[in-house]
Amino acid sequence: MKIAFIGLGNMGGGMAANLVKAGHEVRAFDLSADALDTARENGCTPCTSVAEAVDGVEAVVSMLPNGQIVLSAYTADVIGNAPKDAILIDCSTIDVATAREVSSQAAKAGYAMVDAPVSGGIAAAAGGTLTFMVGGTDDAFGRAETVLNAMGKAVIHAGDAGNGQAAKICNNMLLAIHMTGTCETFAMAEKLGLDPQTFYNIASVSSGQNWSMTSYCPVPGVGPQSPADNDYKGGFATALMLKDLRLAMEAAETANAPVPMGARAASLYEDFAGAGNGQLDFSAILKTF
Ligand code: NAD
Repeated sequence: MKIAFIGLGNMGGGMAANLVKAGHEVRAFDLSADALDTARENGCTPCTSVAEAVDGVEAVVSMLPNGQIVLSAYTADVIGNAPKDAILIDCSTIDVATAREVSSQAAKAGYAMVDAPVSGGIAAAAGGTLTFMVGGTDDAFGRAETVLNAMGKAVIHAGDAGNGQAAKICNNMLLAIHMTGTCETFAMAEKLGLDPQTFYNIASVSSGQNWSMTSYCPVPGVGPQSPADNDYKGGFATALMLKDLRLAMEAAETANAPVPMGARAASLYEDFAGAGNGQLDFSAILKTF
């Protein structure tokens, strides 16, 4: 297929390269000249504008920083310039309301669109092992699936427009809750005289077991290898977790959903990032306790 790719940063760069590897012709646009150079080295065709990139394509994929940028890229440049039968796929993490707004403007102009945010970081983007959570009609999902399969290991239909973003922020809010809960519990166990490894051996086969403990343990030297064993470098940055939690808090307010646990986790991450820890892996929040 002939595919336009907009936003070739940490995530988009690897994703576009995987589309090329799968045999697609990729027309790339980014505001950064360095990102475009790397895209060229990876086999993409660099373009000088969004309008040029989407000319004559069958699909448009975007991986951009936030909702404002996504809204303006689609309404000002993609809609109207891409062929009407192109499937539009936004993989950025943005707020649910903006995702629904962009999708509705695309539909009014006659385009099929999905929001398809990802689970998995830079390594998964480069390795083609992302999980995509997709919001859109059955028809739009079917058309997007072929493109997304080349960049991920799982592509899941979450429902109508915006539901991909809803699934992403709900998942990450739950992750923040069980990570902070795991951290405070390990800190308390140690203060009560329990050796962390011994507590792990017990809790990991008891009802306190959860993913943050047994797949991504925040305590160095305990559980499988994780960013904790590398001074909390790599992994999922605290700043990105905070971005997702802010989106979750916004969505909770709009939906009138009480989220006392999510709100507490969000405020812990606000403080931790504010203290200069934004680039550390999100499991480093153990230091708070
Ligand atoms: P990034 O900052 O590395 O990349 C964003 C790219 O978009 C940059 O190259 C930038 O120049 C480009 N850009 C900005 N405005 C543009 C415009 N108007 N037109 C064209 N290009 C433009 O960010 P990233 O880490 O790749 O993240 C991208 C998205 O993926 C974000 O929404 C983020 O929340 C989400 N995400 C990131 C991760 C991660 O681990 N990095 C994981 C999951 C989801």
